[in-house]
Amino acid sequence: MTTAGLVDRYGRVATDLRVSLTDRCNLRCTYCMPVEGLPWLPNSAVLTDDEVIRLVRVAVERLGVDEVRFTGGEPLIRPGLAKIVGAVAELAPRPRISLTTNGIGLDKLARPLRDAGLDRVNVSLDTLDGERFERLTHRKRHPDVLAGLAAAQAAGLTPVKINSVLMRDINEDEAPALLRFALAEGYELRFIEQMPLDAQHAWDRARMITAAEILAALRERFTLLPDPAERGGAPAETWLVDGYTTPDGSPAKVGVIGSVTRPFCGDCDRTRLTADGQVRNCLFATEESDLRGALREGADDEEIARRWRAATLTKRAGHGIDDPKFLQPTRPMSAIGG
Ligand code: SAM
Ligand code: SF4
Repeated sequence: MTTAGLVDRYGRVATDLRVSLTDRCNLRCTYCMPVEGLPWLPNSAVLTDDEVIRLVRVAVERLGVDEVRFTGGEPLIRPGLAKIVGAVAELAPRPRISLTTNGIGLDKLARPLRDAGLDRVNVSLDTLDGERFERLTHRKRHPDVLAGLAAAQAAGLTPVKINSVLMRDINEDEAPALLRFALAEGYELRFIEQMPLDAQHAWDRARMITAAEILAALRERFTLLPDPAERGGAPAETWLVDGYTTPDGSPAKVGVIGSVTRPFCGDCDRTRLTADGQVRNCLFATEESDLRGALREGADDEEIARRWRAATLTKRAGHGIDDPKFLQPTRPMSAIGG
């Protein structure tokens, strides 16, 4: 068996696989999708559970992937999620397995997913205010997200991380309050700069809340110290929050993912698989490689691995959001897998 990994032309090695399990969602976050939803993928186009498991197995056994994150759309609405997590947890070498979710339904699913082999979760929460939540997501589900967070913590899916996106004139004032909440509950908070990945193409560089603004707002209420931990390929820059500790007694941290103003493409170690079986070597890639077609035409594991390696070779040096020639990808975030 050949085990050469996913190496690109710049020498970066992709070991972190993001798998989108569905493009559908039960929320309508304004920075992600329009209130009427999107034309969803037909069921026949979406990989079956067994197809997902097979592609993840090829990535782990032949391509050196050691971290698998399930995402979407909303991965908790995929009926086969626990089965898929269980099968991935059986792989050797066993990858780390995590989930990015809006938290709705996690109150019931946290324990079964933990039992199936899930290690950690990231839960998206942009506001502590129920009315703002409704304005931001077009759904009255704020209590469900809080219940999901608590259940994840109780089930040991730790450290439970919170992803927050701040938007001008909507929740831009909430950075310190979100951090206070996370510190009190023992969650690790990371802010994500809003990226041009919404289906409506409404993103505006001039109006986005930058990492610098977020840090300035936090520093008005907290002392942030440099984090001595090695960042590696992690998208978040992290700081220690002086005077606070996590539930296990280590220094509490806060992170900022400055995808737009502080890009980290040079250290990127990610590869992505969409719900319909397309490999994307970058969130902002404009091309994809069709592994579903290969699977359904009877390709063997080595052929699939060969196509995945070839797809990695075309990965660009950077996303180029600040380049005047930047083109937003045709797929929105929800259909790529964030
Ligand atoms: N539905 C799940 C959730 O919301 O966590 C998983 C998919 S969602 C696309 C993954 C992450 O992407 C979420 O944390 C969400 O806040 C973030 N996201 C979505 N659209 C974004 C955008 N335009 N800019 C920055 N982050 C975005
Ligand atoms: Fe759904 Fe996640 Fe997009 Fe919000 S960010 S609409 S929860 S996929």
